[in-house]
Amino acid sequence: MNELPDNFGSNVFNDSVMKERLPKETYRALKKTISEGTHLELDVANVVANAMKDWAVSKGVTHFTHWFQPMTGITAEKHDSFINPDSHGGALMEFSGKALVRGEPDASSFPSGGLRATFEARGYTAWDPTSYAFIKDGVLCIPTAFCSYSGEALDKKTPLLRSMEALEKQALRILRLFGDNTSKRVVAQVGPEQEYFLVDRELYLKRPDLVFTGRTLLGARPPKGQELEDHYFGTIKKRVADYMTDLDRELWKLGVYAKTEHNEVAPGQHELAPIFSTANLATDANQLTMELMKTVAARHGLVCLLHEKPFAGVNGSGKHNNWSICTDTGANLLEPGATPRENAQFLLFLCAVIKAVDEYQELLRASVATAGNDHRLGANEAPPAIVSMFLGDELTEILDSIENGTLYTGHEKTQMEIGVTVLPHFPKDTTDRNRTSPFAFTGNKFEFRMPGSTLSVAGPNIVLNTIVAEALRQFADVLEKESDFNCALDKLIRTTIKEHRRIVFNGNGYDDAWVKEAESRGLANLRNTPTALRAMVEPKAIELFTKHRVFSEAEIRSRYEILLENYCKTLNIEALTMIDMVNKYVLPDVLEYEGELADIISRKTAVIPDIRCDMEKSLLKRLSELSDSAAQRLTALEKCAAELKRIADPAEQACAYRERLFPAMAELRACCDELELIVGRKYWSLPTYADLLYSVSE
Ligand code: ADP
Ligand code: MG
Repeated sequence: MNELPDNFGSNVFNDSVMKERLPKETYRALKKTISEGTHLELDVANVVANAMKDWAVSKGVTHFTHWFQPMTGITAEKHDSFINPDSHGGALMEFSGKALVRGEPDASSFPSGGLRATFEARGYTAWDPTSYAFIKDGVLCIPTAFCSYSGEALDKKTPLLRSMEALEKQALRILRLFGDNTSKRVVAQVGPEQEYFLVDRELYLKRPDLVFTGRTLLGARPPKGQELEDHYFGTIKKRVADYMTDLDRELWKLGVYAKTEHNEVAPGQHELAPIFSTANLATDANQLTMELMKTVAARHGLVCLLHEKPFAGVNGSGKHNNWSICTDTGANLLEPGATPRENAQFLLFLCAVIKAVDEYQELLRASVATAGNDHRLGANEAPPAIVSMFLGDELTEILDSIENGTLYTGHEKTQMEIGVTVLPHFPKDTTDRNRTSPFAFTGNKFEFRMPGSTLSVAGPNIVLNTIVAEALRQFADVLEKESDFNCALDKLIRTTIKEHRRIVFNGNGYDDAWVKEAESRGLANLRNTPTALRAMVEPKAIELFTKHRVFSEAEIRSRYEILLENYCKTLNIEALTMIDMVNKYVLPDVLEYEGELADIISRKTAVIPDIRCDMEKSLLKRLSELSDSAAQRLTALEKCAAELKRIADPAEQACAYRERLFPAMAELRACCDELELIVGRKYWSLPTYADLLYSVSE
């Protein structure tokens, strides 16, 4: 721990390095760009680039890359060296302002959903000066946005930055109405908690499904699962503890504030939580975290699984997105205040989130829709596919009393009058312990729990920022027109609560009764990706995103296509992997065991002709029946995969994969898992669930 002050951020070109290495005026100009979003002049960029290069070279770095987040979901980089020829046949280490602010990766291999074909062949990357450059694996990485030449976003960062701007613009309008003329900026803050599994590398390599798809496609339940719940917050095994220490150290070097690490519910499952930061920085940091989780694991003979559901029947992995809005003066706008004015403002921001989540619940759901997350939502220890909001009993009671004009009797009897009465003090009660809500208020922030562990948090935050911006816009439009502010505010808050209270649900989200109840409230229950994604291209969504300049219509449609394609590709790869595993492992293993049994029967009969061999015979019969049906189902799956591959329309194909391929895989799996249970251990060549889940044992 004593190492922290030295090491922390040692590989980041951060504020203190800038201050030390940049001339005063350059530093000031860059800071202005960073804090106010002003344009950066090329001469400033030249000085910054040179200082950055000198700093990097002093650490033995020779290459740089524009680091960006294309639609593939992982980060991309293309390395260039600083080396330039001088006029005497030698070489210089150079890095120009132009090379810093703009790059031209060969964009043709990144998914664009047809955008580049429609607009411009090439794309370029542009420096995001608000995110610090850093050194990773001996390369200077410049965080950038990735766009086409005609300005269409080809990445996840560009729309995220746009959505943050939209939110800021509308939030500032509201703040001005409350007489706040000092706040200049409003930023979305994000703290993504990351869940993951660790498995032994040797065993991992023996499972083609883990290697190719990140999850197990076959596997019978182990005798001991997570039912004892003895893993959660349990002692951390030495090998895992060493991994976590190493990971923290690597993350700290990159300036990522990894803070808490603990075991999760399932055996082999763990969590890392960082300290929250500005949404785009948190997104960058989370991408780095996921990358390092994998590379550091390799050093420890481990593999880090980031899939949302690596093991059927065992807890999946999520990425809880903690979100709040904060001013540059340090005020958290979702923090209940101490004065009537502050409370009124808090209530208005709270209402904006309630309204936003209710009106755009389908869009929020769509923002977390992936093939992997389909296995998680609605399953073991994961929120249902229905979006609802948890506010806690106290806050709900306060809202009720506001709506009905009744007395709030929680701690003291008060008649709530907005802007006049101080909000009765309510403790940050048991709120954050309700783990079953997909969207929970946890005292001064919201925790969106639907995102899966692999997802970039850019997507959900783009939606969150934009829908709240829209609610705030509507509020500001109303309030700016009224002469009696308090009266108008009071009315607005009351009507918002009345209109949107159906989204508030404080009960158990895992309960089946909730599914029925939610239906009667008219809440959407979009159970799978093809169904959920449609919300993206509804006129309502297109209007929202274009109005706030977060996406153009073409950008939305292209993203929709990319997501559908990803879904189809994932399912297709899974089906092919499963087919391969059944052919290469399951059936041959069963045959070998059957052969052994048949041998035993005939050998026994040779010695004692009238021996019965009941056990051997019935086992052989059962194996034979099961392998017959496995073979049948295998053929059915092969046929299905080949047929669906030919569907040209991505939306239609995605639905077909979901409705036909998915169940065909489940049927084949059921047979194989049953076989696994009765085939002798030494004949079964795939590592089992028990092997994998308890692979890190000391
Ligand atoms: P828990 O959810 O277990 O109660 P915490 O409340 O301490 O734990 O925080 C969980 C995550 O939420 C952490 O990553 C933390 O940095 C983040 N977080 C805390 N406060 C905020 C905030 N105001 N805005 C965004 N994220 C926050
Ligand atoms: Mg939490």
